[in-house]
Amino acid sequence: MRLRPFAMITLASLTTAAASRAEVTGTIDPPLSPRNASYVIDATLDLASRTIIGSEVILWRNITTKPATELQFHLYWNAWRDDHSTWLREAKLGARRPVPAVTPGERARIDVTALSVRGIARADLTTVMRFIAPDDGNTDDRTVLTARLPQPVAPGDSLTIDLSWTAHVPRTVARTGVIGNYYFIAQWFPKLGVLQDAGWNCHQFHNGTEFFSDYGSYDVRMTVPTGWILGATGVEREHHDNANRTTTHHYHQDDVHDFAWTTSPDYLERHARFEHPTLPPVDMRLLIQPEHAWQADHHLEAARAALQYYGEWFGAYPYGHITIIDPAYQSGAGGMEYPTLFTAGTRLFAPDHADAPRDVVVHEAGHQFWYGVVGTNEFEDAWMDEGVNTFSEARVLGTWGAPTYLSQRYFGGFVPYVFRDIVLNREVDWNRFAAYRRAPKGDPQSTPSFRYYPTTGGITTYNKTALWLNTMERWLGWPTVQRIMSTYFSRWKFRHPKPQDFFDVADEVSRRDLKGYFDQVYRSSDAFDYGIQELRSDKDGDKYRTLAVVRRYGEAIFPIDVRVTFADGKQVVEHWDGAERWHLYTYEGTQPAVSAEADPGHVLLLDVNRTNNSRTLPPLDAAGPEASTKWSLKWMVWLQDYLLSWSMFV
Ligand SMILES: [Zn+2]
Repeated sequence: MRLRPFAMITLASLTTAAASRAEVTGTIDPPLSPRNASYVIDATLDLASRTIIGSEVILWRNITTKPATELQFHLYWNAWRDDHSTWLREAKLGARRPVPAVTPGERARIDVTALSVRGIARADLTTVMRFIAPDDGNTDDRTVLTARLPQPVAPGDSLTIDLSWTAHVPRTVARTGVIGNYYFIAQWFPKLGVLQDAGWNCHQFHNGTEFFSDYGSYDVRMTVPTGWILGATGVEREHHDNANRTTTHHYHQDDVHDFAWTTSPDYLERHARFEHPTLPPVDMRLLIQPEHAWQADHHLEAARAALQYYGEWFGAYPYGHITIIDPAYQSGAGGMEYPTLFTAGTRLFAPDHADAPRDVVVHEAGHQFWYGVVGTNEFEDAWMDEGVNTFSEARVLGTWGAPTYLSQRYFGGFVPYVFRDIVLNREVDWNRFAAYRRAPKGDPQSTPSFRYYPTTGGITTYNKTALWLNTMERWLGWPTVQRIMSTYFSRWKFRHPKPQDFFDVADEVSRRDLKGYFDQVYRSSDAFDYGIQELRSDKDGDKYRTLAVVRRYGEAIFPIDVRVTFADGKQVVEHWDGAERWHLYTYEGTQPAVSAEADPGHVLLLDVNRTNNSRTLPPLDAAGPEASTKWSLKWMVWLQDYLLSWSMFV
């Protein structure tokens, strides 16, 4: 057991946090990012009609080498406009149960009422707007809007874009919307895609994937009922009350690629501060549901853990403040990341040594690094944020604090029971191995993520990546992998790396050609499975002749060790490149073999069947079959838990 490295929050730290908040303005100078897509937004929430009336000015700069002839915008909320959207069609494909019909009043929609451009060419584009479906040609999908420009925008040139829109807030769906008087407003405004040299990267909203956008400054005014608590990306610069019992809150944040907010009269507010000898301080603001108030320290401690370990391993959190949102019961919010703000769903009963909510908090706080700072394309390369982050989260949970025990929930999920004899561990539990081994061949990871088969896409994105990165760590050593991750982080922060950029850094830092490994884990959907097929020791005079056959049962290839143990306790470790289908090792000596094991160091965490990895000769060695049985039993218990809890994470 080790002590948790963090002190509990004291009155003194509350005072410090309050004092320093005034200094944090959301302004960053000099800029950390290209800031080529900056938004000034004005939005008013009307409770009676559950409508947002919004207007925005986008200052956009063409940072590609090609002229831009059109604009493309995401209108994500149109995914829930009717049953014909690509999002809902995909939801049905992946659903175990029929997707329930939603009444028209509970549907969402977003309608652009005016679009015009200033700058090099002033023009009203409202009449030339149209919907396109670049991914699947679904003419009923309205999640991508395009408008042809009257005059191309040359590389390096800027354009000012004005939009007005009306949006109907959905009943909570996909972590967004309203339930009771809890509003969580995300992916909510008309938002530019990412212009690249190949053209606009502006995918339709898909059920299984998330988002992608350029960095900029966000300056947002939100008008909500007076007295309601509001949390948002960035920092509040000021607020003022209006005559009609509403209050306008003005938030600002530089160098982010999205903006989300929430409002409710019910939130309780807590503050604390992250401090560290070598990392910049971070003010933490927690908006928590009253019934969870006693869990506030759990949230804040877990957020501290993420800021500390991610900061030490990968690079510093650059924003100076972070907001943690505890979503309302039945909001379906679970955990979700936005720049400088995240949701972390918890439960009414959350025992001290169970995984929730700390795993969710670490995961979502971790996304500030892998998603927020390193801005990968979540439509196409979801593993680069979700998978890398699952690996990182698992490493924090495996490094930090007291042991966590398996917990199961009963009575409709309300009542948890903690199994004190099953300690969760990083390699199997936090990497989500149990789910992975049931579906290791879903899709090659290199397939664009939005085209993954729905029910196994998450496993390919989250679990497989965590397992292959952790395998790399056990193979190459943590110092090498840590340097790979920190080099990749510092080189690609506030940019949009592609998978090859990560692989190039891995080769460069490790001074190895890792292409063969990435071919197996990233470019193929082959599974790894090594095992001992046969072990014999035959007496031949006064000697024993031992045969050990190690076999590659899976398609994928990885170099493994093979360890043969003899009756006098001596061991021989062979290094096999793992490429052939099988390999024979023979020994002659005075002692018979008692056991043989493939990959005795458990380096290859992707091995989908560890029960065949060892063979033992009679008399039975205590470590042999018993160990296998123990693994199998643990899997059976964990399997059920994973099925129940897996969908909580995003
Ligand atoms: Zn995630």
